[in-house]
Parts: sequence; structure tokens; C-alpha cells
Amino acid sequence: ATPMSVMVGVGRGAREGVLIKNAEVLEVMEKIDTVVVDKTGTLTQGRPEVSAIEIFGEWKQADVLGLAAAVESQSEHPLAQAVVRRVKADNLSFPEASDFESITGGGVRARVDGHAVLIGKADLLEEQSVSEVSAGKVNAAQHQSQGATVVFVAIDGKLAAMVAITDPIKESTPAALETLHGLGLRVIMLTGDAEPTARAVAERLGIDEFHAGVSPENKHKFVKRLKNEGKVVAMAGDGINDAPALAEADVGIAMGTGTGVAIESAGVTLVGGDLRGVAAANSLSRKTMSNIR
Ligand code: ADP
Ligand code: MG
Repeated sequence: ATPMSVMVGVGRGAREGVLIKNAEVLEVMEKIDTVVVDKTGTLTQGRPEVSAIEIFGEWKQADVLGLAAAVESQSEHPLAQAVVRRVKADNLSFPEASDFESITGGGVRARVDGHAVLIGKADLLEEQSVSEVSAGKVNAAQHQSQGATVVFVAIDGKLAAMVAITDPIKESTPAALETLHGLGLRVIMLTGDAEPTARAVAERLGIDEFHAGVSPENKHKFVKRLKNEGKVVAMAGDGINDAPALAEADVGIAMGTGTGVAIESAGVTLVGGDLRGVAAANSLSRKTMSNIR
């Protein structure tokens, strides 16, 4: 590649909000045939809000939310911020948590006011032998079928709440997917979220290939397997959990709205997290490379 046309391409990308790290990335981008996308924060806004709460056992909602917010205030996850925002909006105060631990792709735990508090997906709570998780799943299904993410709160080993959290799809996402499909690219959604939620979002967006309950490690393995099959893979994501897969992909694409770790692992950063930048980068690469040839 002649440095001049690459510089022009990179410059044009930057003006369109597509930040391209180096010449190699610009070269490979025209060859991609598969685009793997994360759901939360990539297809969706990543500014989720609590849309429903159900309490179990003898707990009062305000107390459960206080304990939950104490733990979530120490987490960077968008779901955590939804819980904290809700508690602040309700004008509830929350105590200090200690022994905070994050289980990537599953949830968080800590001790608060002498209680052991665990928050996360149903699988995680079941693994940790929380009792009565099945009671929480009854109404969860209805929220998930609307595309909401459901997290469960356990206090001292017993289910205390189900919290449904809604994260709207970004305004730019449908057009972005339409363009990618129109270019003949295969689009696959991967998410750590539960199957019913993933299905609802995928159906709404016309994505016919998706995988739910995928751990960060398996996102990475999935991309690796596609490459082994001879696919040229772009992977778009926003979170710490996406970073290994972004690094593995032929082109890693980070949402500029995402975490620093994702941005560092990627070859392309989309300013403002606008997924239409994937198609823009692809066509920019085609133009640049045809100028060079
Ligand atoms: P995604 O791939 O959709 O970005 P993650 O891998 O980050 O999702 O998380 C997968 C699931 O783990 C979430 O849907 C949620 O159920 C649970 N989870 C992760 N972090 C948290 C947290 N801080 N609070 C509650 N639940 C969490
Ligand atoms: Mg994400």
C-alpha cells in the first residue's frame, strides 16, 4: 500500500467517525465476509433502565434495592449502573459494600450490612446453590420475550428479587444491519445474555444467527473457529468481556462509547458507537485498495 492513499483513507474515515489504527486494518477491512456483533452496548444503547421489579420472601423492595445498589455501585457493567440509577431516582440511600467480586459474564457479589449479596444471571445463582431461583424465572420469561435483560438478586443464599432491565436498540442499528446484509456479509450476534432476550432482540433486527449465554472466553473461541474455517472476521463490541474476541478477529471494532480495554484491543473505533461505521470502513477499504491497485 502506498502510504499516501492509506493516509487519505484513514483521514476520510476519521471525518466519518471511523478511527482506523493502521494500514493493515484498512487493507483487511475490504476482505471481511463475516461480522460478529455483541448485543449489549453494541446493538443496544448500553444505557439500560430498570423496567420491572419483583420481590420474593420477606424482603421490602427498598431494602433489597439498597443492598443491590451497594454492590452494583462498585461494578462498571451497564446493568449495574441501571440498578444504581434506579435507586438514586427513588431517593434511596445505600450502604457500603465490602469484599466486592465481579464474575465476568455472570454477575457480582459482595457483603453489605452483614448480608451476602449475589446479583446476576439465573445460571450463576443456580451454580451458587441459591434457593428458589425457579420462582424468579416464572415472570422473567415475559420480560425477556420483550427483549429485557433479567437479573436476579440473592441475599444470604436465597432469592430476594427479579429485576428486569430494558436497553433500547440504538437508532442507527437497523440501518447498519440492513447495509451489512445488503453487502452480502454474514452477521452473527453473540451475547452473554439469556436465550429468550437474545432471540427477541435478534428477531426485531432480522438477525437470523445468534448465540446466547456466551462467556467472554467462548466469544473469543467462536471468532477463532470462524477464522479456522477460512472466514475473514470483523468483530464489533464494547465491553471488557468482548476484548479477547476483538483482539482475535481479523478486524476488531470497538464502540467509542465502550470501555477502554475494548478500544485498546480493536483496530477500528467507531466514534459515538454508530455501527454504520462498519459498512463505511468496508467501503473505504475497497476504495483505498482499488486506488492502490
Ligand atoms: P453482554 O454479552 O450482553 O454484554 P455480559 O457478558 O457482560 O453481557 O453479561 C452476561 C450476563 O451476566 C448479563 O446478562 C447479566 O445477567 C449478568 N451480569 C453481568 N454483570 C452483571 C452485573 N454487574 N450485575 C448483574 N448482572 C450481571
Ligand atoms: Mg457489550
